[in-house]
Amino acid sequence: TNKAGPKKGDAGKALISVTATKEEDFPSWYQQTLTKGDMLDYYDVSGCYILKPAAWHIWETIQDWFNVKIKATGVRNCAFPLFVSQDVLEKEKAHIEGFAAEVAWVTHAGKSQLEKKIAIRPTSETVMYPYYAKWIRSHRDLPLQLNQWNSVVRWEFKHPMPFLRTREFHWQEGHCAHLTKEGCAEEVMRILGFYAGVYEELLAVPVVQGRKTDKERFAGGDYTTTVEGYIPATGRGIQAGTSHLLGQNFAKMFGIVVEDPSVKEGEKKPPIHVWQNSWGLSTRTIGIMVMIHGDNRGLVMPPRVAEIQVVIVPVGITAKTSQEERESLYSQVDAIATILKAVNIRVETDKREGYSPGFKFNEWEQKGVPLRLELGPKDVADHSVTTSRRDIEGNAGKGKIPITELNTEVPAFLEKIQADMYSRAEQNFRSHRVQVTNWDDFVPALNSKNLVLIPFCLAEECEDEIKELSTRKEVGDVPQDEKAPSMGAKSLCIPFEQPEGIVPGETKCANPNCKRLAEKWCMFGRSY
Ligand code: AMP
Repeated sequence: TNKAGPKKGDAGKALISVTATKEEDFPSWYQQTLTKGDMLDYYDVSGCYILKPAAWHIWETIQDWFNVKIKATGVRNCAFPLFVSQDVLEKEKAHIEGFAAEVAWVTHAGKSQLEKKIAIRPTSETVMYPYYAKWIRSHRDLPLQLNQWNSVVRWEFKHPMPFLRTREFHWQEGHCAHLTKEGCAEEVMRILGFYAGVYEELLAVPVVQGRKTDKERFAGGDYTTTVEGYIPATGRGIQAGTSHLLGQNFAKMFGIVVEDPSVKEGEKKPPIHVWQNSWGLSTRTIGIMVMIHGDNRGLVMPPRVAEIQVVIVPVGITAKTSQEERESLYSQVDAIATILKAVNIRVETDKREGYSPGFKFNEWEQKGVPLRLELGPKDVADHSVTTSRRDIEGNAGKGKIPITELNTEVPAFLEKIQADMYSRAEQNFRSHRVQVTNWDDFVPALNSKNLVLIPFCLAEECEDEIKELSTRKEVGDVPQDEKAPSMGAKSLCIPFEQPEGIVPGETKCANPNCKRLAEKWCMFGRSY
């Protein structure tokens, strides 16, 4: 539906548009959108990818925003080593059980075998906490609030997917120790709020905040809070960021203790184990954003994170245009860029010769640039520029801005695009979270690409059963939509915002084989 295709003169300039559609072949669409949009490249180690500058810009924007937030609450950044000895890694049993299958080990240095193999951190609890034990000498050393921006390795065998599930991934991991459970739990929630902020304010992505069930919580912790996202094209949920209350388990394993501050002179009281939390947000953020906003022309970038927010393309140049007219147009393009740079807009001009405007439009659209300004002789005569917003296709996305008003109108327009992108995604997610109380409606709701809220007893075995019951069996099953994935539904979270309708002592768990009462509305879904 894009009329601005390549012209004859563009021949040989390899306009390689996204050819797969989001609706028909989502995996190929995703792959092409990322590579042709210049975000990412594939690498010869499976599960590892190169994040190109356009992607890294997004990550840096997230870092800048998040650093301001956490530093204001006392968190400081630092860097611990990549390696962890086997003894230390395996100290907290429940924790290592959760990761054992995915740990990558270094066994050799050159040709010689190491005396003891060394693990590459899958996360840094065990790397950091021996030093917390050493550094925390008194309650005056608390809270200890550290964060690091690094990468970790989890050698997952599930199908890798750029950004969403990679073997090495970039993230931040925060690790804090507090004197009291309350202080520690407060921080868990505060960080979760920041994660929601990263998605909602920067990436224009709606999320649901809640708590993981015991089955899905972080290995070795007390409980896990989470922000959960939704990918409309596949109807699947995705864990978007997690903030864990670790409790005192690690403190006990690693001996992180302080004297009880209430102890009086001469009095004897046992030392107190500190309360700990940890929290992580990864470059998965970027994949979720691409999947939600991208369309069949490629990337659609939310303005706040776009490396290039505005591209200015000169148009209306023909064979009859004189050299002088052309140069005058180009200098006005530059003048507009200067106006926009002065108000901190990230702007690019495309004055390449020998490429048609249509070719250029396509290229910048593929990269997801939120706003295109076109300047031709007619616009100049009119003292205005023609605008085309990336997030709305066709004429509905076109407009005009007087040149004298660019310095105020463009920043406002970018903010409007950002807000519109969020509100469309939010409405979409809202309309695909359905409440189901009757089991017969559960699988059909999943098949219609919904996440499903059910009254749930919270028992682990019940969760396994729901997964089993919602897995599509090939033999003797009613013919369903062939594209509906066969995967069973997992619990995604117990949303903090609970709908009405669970009557204590009355409402049953939605699993038809369960005899227990429902405790909470729990959000289930097929997921990544
Ligand atoms: P976890 O330490 O398992 O709670 O992970 C913290 C966050 O990192 C999760 O909420 C995910 O969003 C993200 N994450 C986990 N595994 C991966 C992976 N293989 N690739 C990218 N991001 C991941």
